[in-house]
Order: sequence, then C-alpha cells, then structure tokens
Amino acid sequence: MSSPPTKLANRVLRLNVGFVLKEGIGYSRDFPFDEAAVTVADDLTVSDLRGNVNLTRTPQGLYAQGLLRAKVAQSCARCLADMQQPVTSRLGELYHYPPESAPPDSLTVGDDHYLDLTPTVREEFLLSIPMQPLCRPDCRGLCPQCGANWNDGPCDCPAEDRDPRWSGLLDLLDPDKEPPAN
Ligand SMILES: [Zn+2]
Ligand SMILES: [Zn+2]
Repeated sequence: MSSPPTKLANRVLRLNVGFVLKEGIGYSRDFPFDEAAVTVADDLTVSDLRGNVNLTRTPQGLYAQGLLRAKVAQSCARCLADMQQPVTSRLGELYHYPPESAPPDSLTVGDDHYLDLTPTVREEFLLSIPMQPLCRPDCRGLCPQCGANWNDGPCDCPAEDRDPRWSGLLDLLDPDKEPPAN
C-alpha cells in the first residue's frame, strides 16, 4: 500500500516530547525533518520540508531551536509561470512545561506531552513568501501586447520604448493634449 502524498500537519510538526520531558535539565534531542509534502495548515501546503529542530530540557520546559526549509507553490508575478518559492522558519522559542506554570501568552507543551510547532512554522513560512514572487530574479515577464513570454525570446511586436526624455516634446506634438499653461 502506497503512502498518501500529503501528510497532515499534526503528524509531522506536532512532536511527541514526553520522553524528553522525563530527562534531566540540559538533555537535548534532535528532531530531523525530511518530508516530500506537508499540509502545514488549511491555508498552507509545502513540499520538500527539510531541516532539524533541537529540543533542550530547561527548568522552564523545552527550548526549541532549529531551521526548517520548504517550498511553496506560487505563480511568478511577472510571467505567471508556476514556481516553487523557497521559505524558511528559524526557531528559537521556549515552550513552557507544565503549561499551568507558563506566563500569560507564552508557548507551552500540552498536557498531552505534544509540542506543536505548527503555528510558529506556519507564520514564518507565510512571512517569507514575497509580495511579488519571481521565478528568477531577472524574469523578463510577458509582452503586454501579445502575451508572449519574453523568457523564451523576443516577440514580433513593435518596440514601444519611448525615451522618457522625449515625452514632453511628444505631448506638444499631440493635438489632443492641451498645451501647458504658462
Ligand atoms: Zn517569471
Ligand atoms: Zn509581443
């Protein structure tokens, strides 16, 4: 039986840390990640989730530090091509345990001994998606006239690259334009 292509977040980013909590102060343990596809949340599915999270037992709970990388399917803002946007999440958070002893608004390990990285990782992944994702930094985009993808080469449309220095003169020559009032 083949495994499903997408794993649920609570199977991957929710860590069962009961055995770490039983250890003494200073004990640390790596949690490596290497997943082909993960649904982090309803609004975020990533591929190639890789990295490592290290948990250290402290008097207050567990200190999580690590770096996770993944890719998110996006469309290039210039040429509209499907692309994979790299995203990262850099962790350095204390998860308090037991949760009853945690200060207000702090992160906690649940009473069920699960440490859920999902909210932090989701937020950092979403924040690392640029407003204008580009398939490559020098993407040439689409021709506004014929829609050809200029990454595949120039199209046959007449070049309309008016030098902006001439625009004032062209305005004077345009009979529909009012002359500038002096
Ligand atoms: Zn592009
Ligand atoms: Zn064109």
